[in-house]
Amino acid sequence: MDVIKILPKNIANQIAAGEVIQRPASVVKELVENSIDANCSFIQVYIKNSGKSLISVIDDGIGMSKNDLGIAFQRHSTSKITSSKDLFKIKTKGFRGEALSSISAISEIETHSKNEKDKLGNMILIKENKIVEKNVSSIDRGTSIAVKKIFYNVPARRNFLKSDNVELKKIIDEFQRLCLSHPEIKFKFYHNKTELFDLPSSKIKDRIVAVFGKKIKEFLVPVKEKTTVANIEGYIVKPNFAKKTRGQQFLFVNNRFIKSSFLHHSIVSAYEGLLSDRFHPGYFISLNIDPSKIDVNIHPTKTEVKFEDEQSIYAILKSSIKHSLGVFQIMPSIDFNKNINMDPPYSYKEKQPDFPIIELDSKFNPFVKSETSNIKSFIDIVDQNSLHSKLFSFDSNFKKLDLDNIEFPRVFQLFLKYLVCPLKSSLLIINQTRAHQRILYERFLGAITSNKIDSQNLVFPIYLDISPIQLKFFQDQDEILKSLGFNIVFKKKQLIISGAPEEYSQNQIKNIIENFLDINNLDEDIKSLSQADYVAKSLSKSMSIKTGAVLKIEEQKNLLDDLFACKETLLCPFNRKIFITFDQKDIQKKID
Ligand code: ADP
Ligand code: MG
Repeated sequence: MDVIKILPKNIANQIAAGEVIQRPASVVKELVENSIDANCSFIQVYIKNSGKSLISVIDDGIGMSKNDLGIAFQRHSTSKITSSKDLFKIKTKGFRGEALSSISAISEIETHSKNEKDKLGNMILIKENKIVEKNVSSIDRGTSIAVKKIFYNVPARRNFLKSDNVELKKIIDEFQRLCLSHPEIKFKFYHNKTELFDLPSSKIKDRIVAVFGKKIKEFLVPVKEKTTVANIEGYIVKPNFAKKTRGQQFLFVNNRFIKSSFLHHSIVSAYEGLLSDRFHPGYFISLNIDPSKIDVNIHPTKTEVKFEDEQSIYAILKSSIKHSLGVFQIMPSIDFNKNINMDPPYSYKEKQPDFPIIELDSKFNPFVKSETSNIKSFIDIVDQNSLHSKLFSFDSNFKKLDLDNIEFPRVFQLFLKYLVCPLKSSLLIINQTRAHQRILYERFLGAITSNKIDSQNLVFPIYLDISPIQLKFFQDQDEILKSLGFNIVFKKKQLIISGAPEEYSQNQIKNIIENFLDINNLDEDIKSLSQADYVAKSLSKSMSIKTGAVLKIEEQKNLLDDLFACKETLLCPFNRKIFITFDQKDIQKKID
């Protein structure tokens, strides 16, 4: 019996759509790329509910004739190549004729378009992969496409979409890549009627500043190199503006954003010795290469490119970036200790670092209960009822805890990352960052519901320049920040912070809010049920003490106390283990 059949067109299209259109951000990418290919000078993007309700892209490009509009949504319909030879000289973003057919296979799509020659424009409406309306349109020039009900027929994809903020972030990521690859095109971007980007036609440097804010300007260093293999042009960001995320790394090949871990490595290696471990340099690098020397047809979303001469490009790229770093004398002027991003944003920071081991009190007698100490430490109270139930779940030995027999030192820091606490019959090893995240998270969540956090008025209000997109994030969380003791108003493109929770310094507060509003930090791990939970999680992340922070002995004890006063003590807000225990048996297994 024969079993092979040709798939019906709508199923084939849906499968193809799965490769090209993975989320709302992919639709934005494909539509904007089509507008760029249509030689336009102005592109407007309208998004509603992170693309789940609407994605609309309007351009003033060459437009389509009535007939072209009729076939543009069929699979493999393209005006960009005609023969296989054309594949070796691709200058357009698209060429496979897949995007529009893929989008119409998984959504409702209404298109209006007019080309220069026609007197009247035309429209076409596609629902359930069928043309349901064709008509004339009053559109002036160019093309306007509106995509609704994305993934209405692909529940698996729809259900796998992330929270609205994360999907919006992905859309913005795509948008940034596109508007940085074509600074000569004017762009506007709206989300739920709020204008998030208004980018006039400009040179690349001004485009970078328009997208990322004024602050980046003084950190940009030009890169320029002409060779027979490739022309390199663009900007790198000085190491002292490096970030903990990779949000500002852009590599373009013939005006197409691409991902290449090989060339990325070449760029980063030029910074060797200039950056500390967890920091990523920013770069905006454009390579111009003869199209016949590259292949962009190796990946469904065309974000990967094969180079004929990758080794040479690697070498040229590295040396030209090194050269720029040298010419602008970056090496001697950096003071890594001054990098505010590396400071632990916590009151611990202000105190003199000092190693707990040295703090041992020589007069201390473990057999005499301390009367002078006013610090009620975790150990001091560990036999009290409230803590027991929390500890029993993992170590029944706590029940028999005998204070007088606890080993010393009672708590110390290890690798500036863990707190180690020997108990009578087990050893507790606590991750300091996660413990603190748990403490802050519960404190914030409690405060959001009861307004319990004390606020201090700042002597000098803090002014922060913010972008429209940051304003949106701020406005979403305005009320919650207030309940956490932050007093912030928005005026003339600036946030003015006049009040903040006690115990944080001016600098720390500025850092915390900057971090909070940096959409590049928006975390995909934070799957939250509510805005309050989201804010509590993300602030607990940015405000927690980090690995590398030296903690005084009192601070270590406080951390333990506070942790074991939490409702949940085993896991941090991001569901990671806070501590582990070794009992005698575990240790004996390793050494008897
Ligand atoms: P591709 O971009 O690979 O050619 P698409 O499915 O994205 O395939 O688009 C199909 C065709 O529709 C394009 O080749 C182009 O001729 C036309 N088209 C799509 N969008 C636009 C637009 N905004 N302006 C003018 N023509 C467009
Ligand atoms: Mg296309």
